[in-house]
Amino acid sequence: MVDAVVVGGGLAGLACAHGLAAAGRSVTVIEAADAVGGRARTVWREGRPVDRGFQSLFRAYPETGRFLKEIGIRRRDLRPFTRGAVFHDGRTWSRFGPPPTRAPGGGVLARSDWARLVRLVGEVVAKPPEALLEMDGPEPDTETFLRVRGFSDEAIEGFWRPLFGVIMLDRSLGADPGYFRFLLSMLARGPAVIPADGLGMIAEWAAASVEQRGGVVRTGEPVAALEADPGSGGRRLAGVRTASGELVRARHVVLAAEAPAARVLLDPVDPASAARVPDAAASVTTAAFLLDLPLYRGRTIVLNSAPHDPDEGTRIDLVCQTTNVVRPEAGEGPHVLLATSVTTGTDPAAPGIEDAVARLVGRWAPGFDWARHARHVDTFVHAFAQFRPLHGVRRELPGPRTAAENLILAGDLTAHPSIEAAVASGRRAAGIVEALSP
Ligand SMILES: Cc1cc2nc3c(=O)[nH]c(=O)nc-3n(C[C@H](O)[C@H](O)[C@H](O)COP(=O)(O)OP(=O)(O)OC[C@H]3O[C@@H](n4cnc5c(N)ncnc54)[C@H](O)[C@@H]3O)c2cc1C
Repeated sequence: MVDAVVVGGGLAGLACAHGLAAAGRSVTVIEAADAVGGRARTVWREGRPVDRGFQSLFRAYPETGRFLKEIGIRRRDLRPFTRGAVFHDGRTWSRFGPPPTRAPGGGVLARSDWARLVRLVGEVVAKPPEALLEMDGPEPDTETFLRVRGFSDEAIEGFWRPLFGVIMLDRSLGADPGYFRFLLSMLARGPAVIPADGLGMIAEWAAASVEQRGGVVRTGEPVAALEADPGSGGRRLAGVRTASGELVRARHVVLAAEAPAARVLLDPVDPASAARVPDAAASVTTAAFLLDLPLYRGRTIVLNSAPHDPDEGTRIDLVCQTTNVVRPEAGEGPHVLLATSVTTGTDPAAPGIEDAVARLVGRWAPGFDWARHARHVDTFVHAFAQFRPLHGVRRELPGPRTAAENLILAGDLTAHPSIEAAVASGRRAAGIVEALSP
């Protein structure tokens, strides 16, 4: 009998387990996959970290910042995108981001849109992040919000859609404006960063820290069911049942699986909460390449801001040579290049993504011999990369408490679709278990 069993070794589950282990509680994490990290995992190819899908975190994420410190990841381990983002609109290049950001004449935004951006950023940084998240209306989506704020078509198509399309994994900019304002405030408060050993470093260090404090992290076997305590009339759980039939007994169960898996496990115990687990998916596919010559230099993402051509097939939205950011000293290569296609609303698998990257690089850098210098190493498909925070969705999400008094829900599905929400939800779940414990 442990104090808590945590279902899911993603960032939410590990943040919870870490909080409990640090408080002296006995905790077991059960992760279905063969490694921890969930959606934030890294694999290694030829000595280089390759994230299983391009992603970064904002250094200003408040709860994540505290958590990283606790597990020993220092500020200097968080490698920033010092050169912001570079846009290619099909004809020309322009850059956005520090230092120094030039607006009119050469920048990605015209003078009037630049002034609107400065005003909007001033407003969002003046408010605490939680307050921004509470403001999800009155406009139905981010695009409408931006139009109401007066942004031109050029700014929306050439700046907001390419940039926030890849941040939200949704080129329709369908997220509620509260979530958008939260993300904008994070972007304005500090750079996007990737840990030195890739995003998966967070989960790996967190799991090691849990184990150092006496916790147990099991991988490679899923939990098949949450097990009711027969004597409690359905009010309590006895623990969880693994796929091999083992009953892991626990005083508390924390369910920290991703939305589709959480819904299935939760339904027999608390159908009302299960029905509130979000189901609209944002999807994304990332192709990973190893390059023996760098495609570009600089710690930046490259965004495709060309108008969408319905006949183009799979569209590449973002290219990032991540080794420029996490291994700036490794001049020799191989260089890791990730290319992302946001597929929300289309075929999540992005058919032909590897060829689409080759064609795009051919247009962007005709002098670069892609066939000679690039090797495809992985393609990562995330059909449910995150839930879509469409208007009103966040207000309806399930809370951490459930119909079973010792079952606590965690994961981004309880707040908003981000690393910050996952970590914060895990820490909150640990606090609830602590408060319920004698
Ligand atoms: C490609 C991509 C790009 C992203 N970009 C960003 C970004 O730039 N910035 C940002 O903030 N966020 C981004 N996100 C979102 C972010 O990664 C997630 O919000 C966060 O990692 C969710 O963590 P979690 O712990 O809630 O869920 P998960 O990471 O999904 O963890 C859930 C875990 O539960 C396990 N599990 C499921 N069922 C069972 C079971 N039955 N038994 C045992 N274990 C089970 C799963 O294997 C998984 O490891 C991105 C996501 C993706 C996929």
